[in-house]
Amino acid sequence: MEDKNISHGLWDATATGKPQLGRLGREQKADVAIIGGGYTGLSAALHLSLAGKSAVVLEANDVGFGGAGRNVGLVNAGLWLMPEDVISLVGQDHGQALIDVLGASPDLVYGLIERYNIQCEAWRHGTLHCADSKAGYRALQQREKQWKERGAPVRLLDRDEAAQKIGSKAYLGALLDERAGTIQPLAYAYGLARAAMDEGAMIYANSPVTSLEKEWDAWRLTTPEGSVLAKSVIIAVQGYPEAAFKDQVQNIVPFNYFQFATKPLDEQILKTVLPGRNGAWDTNLLLSSYRLDAMGRLIIGSVGNVEDFAWNLNKAWAKRSLEKIFPQIGEAELEHGWYGRIAMTPNHIPRFHVMGENLAMVTCYNGRGIGPGTVFGKLLAEYMMGGSPKDIPLPVSEITPVSMRFLRGLFYEAGSRLYHLVQRRI
Ligand SMILES: Cc1cc2nc3c(=O)[nH]c(=O)nc-3n(C[C@H](O)[C@H](O)[C@H](O)COP(=O)(O)OP(=O)(O)OC[C@H]3O[C@@H](n4cnc5c(N)ncnc54)[C@H](O)[C@@H]3O)c2cc1C
Repeated sequence: MEDKNISHGLWDATATGKPQLGRLGREQKADVAIIGGGYTGLSAALHLSLAGKSAVVLEANDVGFGGAGRNVGLVNAGLWLMPEDVISLVGQDHGQALIDVLGASPDLVYGLIERYNIQCEAWRHGTLHCADSKAGYRALQQREKQWKERGAPVRLLDRDEAAQKIGSKAYLGALLDERAGTIQPLAYAYGLARAAMDEGAMIYANSPVTSLEKEWDAWRLTTPEGSVLAKSVIIAVQGYPEAAFKDQVQNIVPFNYFQFATKPLDEQILKTVLPGRNGAWDTNLLLSSYRLDAMGRLIIGSVGNVEDFAWNLNKAWAKRSLEKIFPQIGEAELEHGWYGRIAMTPNHIPRFHVMGENLAMVTCYNGRGIGPGTVFGKLLAEYMMGGSPKDIPLPVSEITPVSMRFLRGLFYEAGSRLYHLVQRRI
């Protein structure tokens, strides 16, 4: 049966270990209050608790409601940008530190999964960035060179080896990154929440922060039924800001990304589709991504949403694409479809804002938030425990609304629909 839960789709249908959370219904004190229960907020709460600090997470909806419960589940090492672009955009010192910390971010993610025995379909078998054109292949050669110079375990596969690892002859080659892998993203968020609570953090669901005010040397966060007085505050609302932070949406370029999942594939066919269980995506500007889940469902994704008539348009594209890229699967029967909003910046670099005394936010991971969210949550926790802004490997920037953000969003959405209407028809 077709599942039309278009916000969390397959991840909601298969995630286990959901923590049962109450709403904040009283006044409470904490060393650090955290706004938002995605990877950034939950990782911050976990690391603060591990250091013996009291941490309270206030989540407007439920843990994993934002990008954390909707994403592809690719645990990547580094940003979309190539390392040299990162350095040219933020300078040598920040750039090198950012490359190092995010390059190692899968170690932190998989380390926490192991330490807290988080059941989230975790595979660390590497990812494949697949060349769909000669220009794409040349870009992968550049990527390989830049990462190899920094000692990363990446390797450009030729057409034949790529075909064997992807299970498709559609690509000219692929960059294998052995640092990376895949997870069930919502189950990881649930696991982080449970780990944080086991270490002593308090997490409240359905508790949107409606106001944030300075009260002597502390901050008062108000929710509809309670409040928290905290010395420090971490804002971790990313691409789904609500209530007191709804205006933050002005500061992101919205970029929708949808996914469709097949029924579990036949056992014999499954041996020929991404047989090493790698996550994969391609070099196309309007990229396609592919991955399997633990039950052997093949999940395809691309740019756009699945609202209203875009459901049929993008579903037809997904079906056509799967049948073309992986002809061995025969007719693709799609069971789940959903989408989410990625928070982008015009230059694809995340932002670090210090908005007052003991009040900070890192945001806009540009579609790479599993590793970065987990890492920046930890770094923000350390910063609030007496660190300096210099410990966060990003320049501190002013909050500035993105110019023409609505038009940019419209451009991506309309462009992707037009493209998906015609792509892979012949
Ligand atoms: C479709 C899609 C595909 C993606 N694919 C990948 C991928 O494959 N790999 C990868 O690494 N990253 C991917 N990302 C990016 C990644 O999901 C995000 O970067 C990540 O979820 C950010 O985590 P976060 O904790 O900062 O924010 P979020 O997970 O967005 O959480 C923010 C939370 O803040 C809460 N909130 C908002 N306002 C308030 C308020 N006033 N009071 C209390 N709570 C509030 C929201 O309800 C939400 O739960 C993808 C994102 C999307 C949407």
